[in-house]
Amino acid sequence: MRLVVVGGVAAGLSAASRARRLDPELEILVLEKGYDISYGACGLPYYIEGRAEDLSVYSADFFRRERKIEIRTAADVVSVLPTRRELTLSGGERITYDRLILATGARPNPPPEANRPVFCLHTFEDGRRLKDFLGEHRPARAAVMGGGYIGLEAAEALRTQGWRVTLFQESPYLLHRADAELTALLVAHLKTFRIDLRLGQRYDGSRYDLIVSATGLKPNAEIAAAAGIELGTTGAIRVSDRMETSANGIYAAGDCVELTHLVTGRPVWIALGTHANKAGRVAGANAAGGDARFPGVVGTSIVRVCGLGVALTGLSTEEARLEGFDVISASASAFDKAKYFRGRRTRVELTADRRTGRLLGGSVIGEDGAGGRINVIATALHRRMRVDEFEYLDLAYAPPFAPVYDPLLVTAHELLKKL
Ligand SMILES: Cc1cc2nc3c(=O)[nH]c(=O)nc-3n(C[C@H](O)[C@H](O)[C@H](O)COP(=O)(O)OP(=O)(O)OC[C@H]3O[C@@H](n4cnc5c(N)ncnc54)[C@H](O)[C@@H]3O)c2cc1C
Repeated sequence: MRLVVVGGVAAGLSAASRARRLDPELEILVLEKGYDISYGACGLPYYIEGRAEDLSVYSADFFRRERKIEIRTAADVVSVLPTRRELTLSGGERITYDRLILATGARPNPPPEANRPVFCLHTFEDGRRLKDFLGEHRPARAAVMGGGYIGLEAAEALRTQGWRVTLFQESPYLLHRADAELTALLVAHLKTFRIDLRLGQRYDGSRYDLIVSATGLKPNAEIAAAAGIELGTTGAIRVSDRMETSANGIYAAGDCVELTHLVTGRPVWIALGTHANKAGRVAGANAAGGDARFPGVVGTSIVRVCGLGVALTGLSTEEARLEGFDVISASASAFDKAKYFRGRRTRVELTADRRTGRLLGGSVIGEDGAGGRINVIATALHRRMRVDEFEYLDLAYAPPFAPVYDPLLVTAHELLKKL
């Protein structure tokens, strides 16, 4: 029995490793069109900044030796023929499979035409190119296109190295979150780091010495579509909670698939490594004959923006309104720990459905503890908790870590007063 996996990074190698764990006899072949496998793209901004030396996790040799997983790089799959259980590489070679996992990821929107150095920040190769460029040039003027998390991380990494950064964001919001208050807070913060933010503006074509393009992604779903595999409403591959596609014996996971949003119950395409690894694991388990399920996501993310932790989960007030909820929200700014332990203000917002009291989303912005706090809200969203159930959660307290009323509980209290 042969399992073939297309894509050799997060979802693909999680899938292959899980399949091997469940079935020691399975023949497993991973096909990767690039030359890098098994690396943490999430570390790219820190690699650029000089904080991380190498992003590789395991080598192809490690997979061959330790996991009996064969990996072929420079193996570009151009088509899949489900009726023959066969795929074709760009050179014309045909490879048969019994089970197939598509983990082809996503690709960045093309950068603008410009007669100056333009970079994306998506693959390890992109990171190396940009790092080499920075090493060879003195800091000058850089333009970053895109105010999503990759654009913000790139802007910070360049600023840290002395570049004068102008950040263009076409929409009026940062981080793709329809949340005016959050954007206003970040605008003020970026100003203190002397990042020139042009909100609501496209890249102006001026002379910059370097351009980083981070204007969004598209799922790599074309091979699947051409093979007759169903895509979802988001344009990514539709899968069941077992990560099965519409074609028999073909699974998919990672940035190329859409998942169920557990707050709205509707399909959503959120390209993040956190899901890619978990859903890959589920695909691998099922492809090897197991029975694993991935329930869906609540849209949790966190990013560092010039020293500030910005964490989001569920729906913003605006998004919840667009989904048809009768929305009520409250925000509070409270100390994240005792002042004598360098306590700083953390801003929390919680959004709920007025009719049922059910929590719909939240955000946490603070120098410390944003990750832990957003995970509490994310857990509450998974469990469909109401605000009154959230208000007296038994959260940890000791002066070096948190105040006796955690900022989350302070905000929940404010929200309950409005409900
Ligand atoms: C700068 C940056 C920062 C990030 N930070 C975070 C973070 O902090 N937290 C987080 O959760 N996520 C983060 N992410 C997102 C995360 O890295 C991705 O969600 C994750 O890598 C997706 O994994 P994947 O395996 O689905 O796709 P990918 O990692 O894109 O891998 C897909 C692979 O498939 C290969 N492939 C595609 N088509 C073919 C084909 N036809 N034949 C053969 N091979 C093919 C590609 O070459 C690629 O190597 C970040 C991403 C970037 C770029």
